[in-house]
Amino acid sequence: MLNIDLTGHRAFVCGASKGIGAATAKAFADCGARVTLAARSLAELKQICEQLPGDGHQVLELDLAKTESIEKLLISTEIKTDPYTILVCNAGGPKAGALAEARLDSFADGFQTHVLANQTLVQTLLPGMISKKYGRVINIISTSVKVPIPNLGVSNTIRGAVASWAKSLANELGPFGITVNNVLPGFTETSRLEALVEAAGKRLGKSEDEVIALWKGSVPARRFAQPEETAVAISFLASPLASYINGINLPVDGGRTGTL
Ligand code: NAD
Repeated sequence: MLNIDLTGHRAFVCGASKGIGAATAKAFADCGARVTLAARSLAELKQICEQLPGDGHQVLELDLAKTESIEKLLISTEIKTDPYTILVCNAGGPKAGALAEARLDSFADGFQTHVLANQTLVQTLLPGMISKKYGRVINIISTSVKVPIPNLGVSNTIRGAVASWAKSLANELGPFGITVNNVLPGFTETSRLEALVEAAGKRLGKSEDEVIALWKGSVPARRFAQPEETAVAISFLASPLASYINGINLPVDGGRTGTL
């Protein structure tokens, strides 16, 4: 029988206080990993951490918008003596809105929180992954890297940058036993989705229930995902079972994305 077994692995999960990040921390712990949960709210992280099965989990207050602090904070988690082999790059998505009206600082913020933070995290954890001859970098981005999503122009732009960064990195790091892959969530029941439903309702002049019905109708599965379903895909990519999967974009979207 095949099991997703992360025993012996140490995982660093960003954006672990809510949604897909929190579900991923739980799934990793269920699979036997020791998990460091990072986000801006220590109180929320502690609550989730206390519920994880197994030992050796940690919380870390981390603002991915402040790149200069990431390396400093990570050093405090003993990355040399006890290296991380799994990194999940994940943060809140850029705000919705018309691209033609987007301010330059929203691009700069998105680039900072997603591209520069990811780069700093990888550079900090890479020596440990190389020493362990095992590494899994998994970026949570969006199906917009396949089909741009209306009214999410800044997000579409930033996700495209992350996807190119990840593919380039996958080519460089493959020889070290390290894979770099992207998970592309579809509609997933989290606070991010609530914010998007609200924004779409205002833009389209529809109630939130009408938007939800419209969006569910656009998914072949006719429902939204639970974050735990996305976390299963992330756990598989993090595991030894996915050793020959590198540089991909994996939609977890109930079949919604209209590309081959
Ligand atoms: P969420 O808003 O529920 O959770 C985001 C997590 O990131 C939270 O823990 C939050 O505290 C953390 N975070 C945000 N900014 C941060 C920062 N500067 N520093 C540290 N932590 C920060 O989002 P989610 O639904 O779990 O989505 C995860 C990712 O997947 C997001 O990038 C989102 O845009 C993307 N995505 C989500 C959906 C969906 O329907 N939920 C669809 C497509 C893409």
